[in-house]
Amino acid sequence: EEAESLYRSLHPASAAHSAHAAQFMPGGNTRSSLWAFPFPIYMEGGHEARLTDVDGNVYIDFLGEFTSGIYGHSPDFLKDALVSATDRGVSLSSHHRLEGELAERLCQRFPSVDMVRFCNSGTEANIMAINAALTFTGREEVVVFQGAYHGSVLTFSGNNDVNVPFKTIILPYNDIEALLATFAGRADQIAAIIVEPMLGAGGCTPGTAEFLSTCRELCSDSGAVLIFDEVQTARLHFGGRQSQLGIFPDLTVVGKFFGGSLPFGCFGGRKDIMQQFDPRAVGAIAHAGTFNNNTLTMAAGIAAIDQHLTAEALDQLSARGDRLRTEINAVFERQGAPYHATGIGSIMNIHPNHGPDSKYLRQLIYLDLINSGIFVAARGLISLCFSINDDDIVTFVQKLKFFTEQRSVCWS
Ligand code: PLP
Repeated sequence: EEAESLYRSLHPASAAHSAHAAQFMPGGNTRSSLWAFPFPIYMEGGHEARLTDVDGNVYIDFLGEFTSGIYGHSPDFLKDALVSATDRGVSLSSHHRLEGELAERLCQRFPSVDMVRFCNSGTEANIMAINAALTFTGREEVVVFQGAYHGSVLTFSGNNDVNVPFKTIILPYNDIEALLATFAGRADQIAAIIVEPMLGAGGCTPGTAEFLSTCRELCSDSGAVLIFDEVQTARLHFGGRQSQLGIFPDLTVVGKFFGGSLPFGCFGGRKDIMQQFDPRAVGAIAHAGTFNNNTLTMAAGIAAIDQHLTAEALDQLSARGDRLRTEINAVFERQGAPYHATGIGSIMNIHPNHGPDSKYLRQLIYLDLINSGIFVAARGLISLCFSINDDDIVTFVQKLKFFTEQRSVCWS
């Protein structure tokens, strides 16, 4: 209650904006993941790793737009790319050279990717990748995993999931036995396995190498298509989590930061699968989209890859994230706080330990972090951007130490 009343007193303007929007949008919301109790914060603007809300509160942005905002806010490269693309013409009613240039960079980056196609979101790219697998195999079933998030219509949390237009077999994540049993019974009906190398929205649970390589082997043996959804995990290493583990899928889906943080999705992989989209082929799969090749995203993506997404920069970011996660867990342990953090590199999630109070504990730590000027997702997701520095990490850990100590009466 004390944390909630402080939150309310710090955010009168956010409360007013939320109430206003609720008259015209259900719950004032258009992105479910942004809902927060008692109402979400409305931001006025951002610069590098800082966010300022409509009440004038300043935060260190540890959410990084759910992994998409890896470049921080309003980076110069993005402004330059957008201005020059706008000067040349935003939508040209045709092909333009930037598409091939972005495609070439992505194919060079991922050894498993021969060819790509672009979409407007990760959701769309996953739908198209699944579509490609269904058509390629002539089969109807797709193995997905509990807690997986492949986009707004491809979520398997078990919590009001939107129906998807193909037959799914939903298995527990990281459960090799369940995979083997499923394939033993119906290998010839399974078109694809789609899997995140680490569950992202599902709570930053890393997939084990054994689990992912079992997915690989079962697909290779049965002719099913293995799809890695690397929309989040592609930032963990230069060639994505697949290159880090040396386990390569048939199709890869990326998005978010590869479009320079603009709306973007991309799927690609084996040439024989991707060539189904070649308009010259008889019976080619149609895949249109007014903004698939929009000049703004193409230009932003090329500039981002060339100037920022280097192997060195990504490794440094991962190291900083590993350090933050280790220190967060050390604070929880020392204070006896009933929480833990999971994840890999720059992507992590703080969880309440299992128990009857976990819902309240999740709310409490969110409110305490926000009240301390640390911006994270209500569900505990943290993703670092390049603008976060070592001092910001120290600040996070100090604030966490301070309020977990103050709250110790709550759980002791
Ligand atoms: N796949 C994963 C792993 C994601 O984390 C997300 C978004 O958070 C998506 C797909 C969907 O991407 P988009 O929000 O661009 O549709």
